[in-house]
Amino acid sequence: MTKWVYSFGEGKAEGRADMKNLLGGKGANLAEMSNLGLPVPPGFTITTEVCTWFYANGKQYPAELQGEVAAALASVERIVGTKFGDPDNPLLVSVRSGARASMPGMMDTVLNLGLTDVTVAGLARRSGDARFAYDSYRRFIQMFGNVVLGVDHHHFEDVLEEVKRDRGLSYDTELKAEDWQSVIAGYKQVVENELGRPFPQDPQEQLWGAIGAVFSSWMNQRAITYRKLHDIPASWGTAVNVQAMVFGNMGDDCATGVAFTRNPSTGENLFYGEYLINAQGEDVVAGIRTPQHLTIAGKDANGSTLPAMEESMPEVFRQLDEVRLKLERHYRDMQDIEFTVQQSKLYMLQTRTGKRTAAAALKIAVDMVGEGLISEKEGVLRIEPKSLDQLLHPTLDPKAKRTIIAKGLPASPGAASGKVVFTAEEAEKAAEHGEAVILCRVETSPEDIHGMHAAQGILTTRGGMTSHAAVVARGMGRPCVAGAGELRIDYKRGTITVRGVEVKAGDVVTIDGSTGEVMLGEVPTIQPELSGNFAELMGWADRFRRMKVRTNAETPLDARTARKFGAEGIGLCRTEHMFFDADRIIAVREMILADTEGGRRAALAKIAPMQRQDFVELFKIMKGLPVTIRLLDPPLHEFLPNSDAEMAEVAKAAGTDIQKVQHRAVQLHEANPMLGHRGCRLGISYPEIYEMQARAIFEAAVAVFKETGETVTPEIMIPLAGTKKELDILKAVIDRVAGEVAQASGHTVDYLVGTMIELPRAALQAGQIAQTAEFFSFGTNDLTQTTFGISRDDAGSFLPDYQRAGIFEHDPFVTLDTEGVGELVKIAAERGRNTRGDIKLGICGEHGGDPSSIYFCEKVGLDYVSCSPYRVPIARLAAAQAAILGEQAASEA
Ligand code: PEP
Ligand code: MG
Repeated sequence: MTKWVYSFGEGKAEGRADMKNLLGGKGANLAEMSNLGLPVPPGFTITTEVCTWFYANGKQYPAELQGEVAAALASVERIVGTKFGDPDNPLLVSVRSGARASMPGMMDTVLNLGLTDVTVAGLARRSGDARFAYDSYRRFIQMFGNVVLGVDHHHFEDVLEEVKRDRGLSYDTELKAEDWQSVIAGYKQVVENELGRPFPQDPQEQLWGAIGAVFSSWMNQRAITYRKLHDIPASWGTAVNVQAMVFGNMGDDCATGVAFTRNPSTGENLFYGEYLINAQGEDVVAGIRTPQHLTIAGKDANGSTLPAMEESMPEVFRQLDEVRLKLERHYRDMQDIEFTVQQSKLYMLQTRTGKRTAAAALKIAVDMVGEGLISEKEGVLRIEPKSLDQLLHPTLDPKAKRTIIAKGLPASPGAASGKVVFTAEEAEKAAEHGEAVILCRVETSPEDIHGMHAAQGILTTRGGMTSHAAVVARGMGRPCVAGAGELRIDYKRGTITVRGVEVKAGDVVTIDGSTGEVMLGEVPTIQPELSGNFAELMGWADRFRRMKVRTNAETPLDARTARKFGAEGIGLCRTEHMFFDADRIIAVREMILADTEGGRRAALAKIAPMQRQDFVELFKIMKGLPVTIRLLDPPLHEFLPNSDAEMAEVAKAAGTDIQKVQHRAVQLHEANPMLGHRGCRLGISYPEIYEMQARAIFEAAVAVFKETGETVTPEIMIPLAGTKKELDILKAVIDRVAGEVAQASGHTVDYLVGTMIELPRAALQAGQIAQTAEFFSFGTNDLTQTTFGISRDDAGSFLPDYQRAGIFEHDPFVTLDTEGVGELVKIAAERGRNTRGDIKLGICGEHGGDPSSIYFCEKVGLDYVSCSPYRVPIARLAAAQAAILGEQAASEA
């Protein structure tokens, strides 16, 4: 028989940490903490299987559930020594959702459940604190009314404001028991008005209402959207956790707080957290009161004047610190914990793997390897490859002048400048126009996430290091300054003011999420240092990976950047990109527009010396590492002149008249340039172009050899081939030129000739093509275009519809479609290898820098991936993870 309910408490539990699929993350960890003997209030978890059952059976529960819940509740009553619904000594519980992965958008928490008009009096007597009891009851009505009954927040807020106004009070803390009773009466009236029925007075009805609300929230729109964005299947379901209440708001010997076992911003091995005295759960994250630091060090570092827990509750702090060490040793990872102190007794309410910045993740991984907690391979697996992006970006130039107008909390590191906007919508709109913006809010909420994503940085005036803005920004890798309380934001007027300074919407500000500083105007930045933990971890990654990582680069700057980031050669040098410069493009246009071979050769002669010099520089920077040079592949529309002025310029350079140029441009115009006269088709029509390029390559290799003694082995790559014939013809041109250069220079250059695999035909004919090609590089941009039959240039107009409709989970131009395009890659790799055992295989489409695509490349056994310079470290790490995971899978099989 299926077991639907798992109990925990009294130092034992029916569940375990490895039962996340069944108990959800929160439930599994509550069980694990109980088993570890940590002080966890007793409770039980209703499994995710109930959620699945619920949806499969018309929102009913399995017949046994009622009995199992009753038995588990009785066990909680026995442990705590109270009774659910008892007028004298009532048990109160919290009800929380808890899926496998933490999931914002679902019902979060109902606290103080079990309070009624009757039991509240019992609580008042037992606690000896009527104010506390009635405050708890009104919180319950508000939470339950909102999340379970669906009554809008503002109704409750209006009532509270009215009572405060009537009594002339400004702060919640000034309300007495009688005041809260008036609030309660008002709240109950709100519920009755809104729903046409009274607030439920039966604790069982409350409990089942809350359980039903959790399960129902699994299918609300926000949860569905979140699941879609994060690849979480609906079939997982959520669990429900019911747990005895403990109170952090029963007086000054009570508190509630959240903490990280290490600093989540820097990774330092220092206890890091915040607490509030005499407060309940959500008060800490709500950002309404300013939280206090746990440690004296934390307090000093943040210039806080409020006492640290280490000072105000030294004994409890000592216990909490012990719990911290125990949890870290047990989980072998940084934990994010929630706790409550009730009358000087510590209770643990949650532990989970803590979210952290990329810098912190690196430091924690490297430190934990050093501490012997994890292996180097585990360390490498701990870092999300994409998160490295956060470290590769600029920080403020320390020498730059700055006009600091305020200092908030350093909530998420990195520096950003941009125009001030006040709403998520404005941020998104500005981002669409390519404008950099800083989203400035009093505080943020889940509705703002799209704007936070669109913004370069986030600034809030309220809330702590664990506020919504801080947590979300860190997760996204956006710089964030939170809780800059001196700033006054006036949404209506569209201004931020501080001590006589006024910043208006659209003015540029700079924030430094590493220091918390807010500055006027744009402040210059400098490039990051890639030493220390970064270098150490990347060193391990390099040891564990099998695939090489090259870069797509054609300029000396890109090539140097990529080398600095650890590129092991160039996997794609797009020669047409070498001609975008204003002074070169005229010669290229002249070449393209020439209508005779003679005309083309004249233009090519102008280009040749520049091209040779380009290759000399690249070869020198790459110091003997492989350099793959792709012969010209210009989609013509990117190069044809548009305006009359441009036409005139070309005509002048070619010594011809503008009409002729215009006529030729019309002739060359294509309806589908992405599938037109590009790639090797151009080489077939005009072999003199590839001839010039081949000559420039060989002459550059000879020149570098003669100057530096460095042997260069160029890999010459022919684009967009679909047949062996194309390659045979063009390889013959290259071989001839190689011979000519060798003869003229007296130096023979070793080289390879290969092709890009960008067409389905090429993939299928890979066996034949490999008879000529000595290497393949998968051009998955074009291969995706040609496999799907979706134009790279036009996809933007309908791809979003495809993603919304769930046809594409990801943009296939970003993440490789492993099923279709990947199948072609696999076929080509196999057939190529069958023909030529040592054929070199690589990828140079955008997917070469995308971690999940890189995992696929490892699976099909490519020799290298090639990506843009800034993604090189990401690719190195992803390749290492792919190798480690592959090895683990193989040893398990
Ligand atoms: C490709 O098609 O994947 C490729 C790398 O070439 P390009 O993007 O230049 O067409
Ligand atoms: Mg291509």
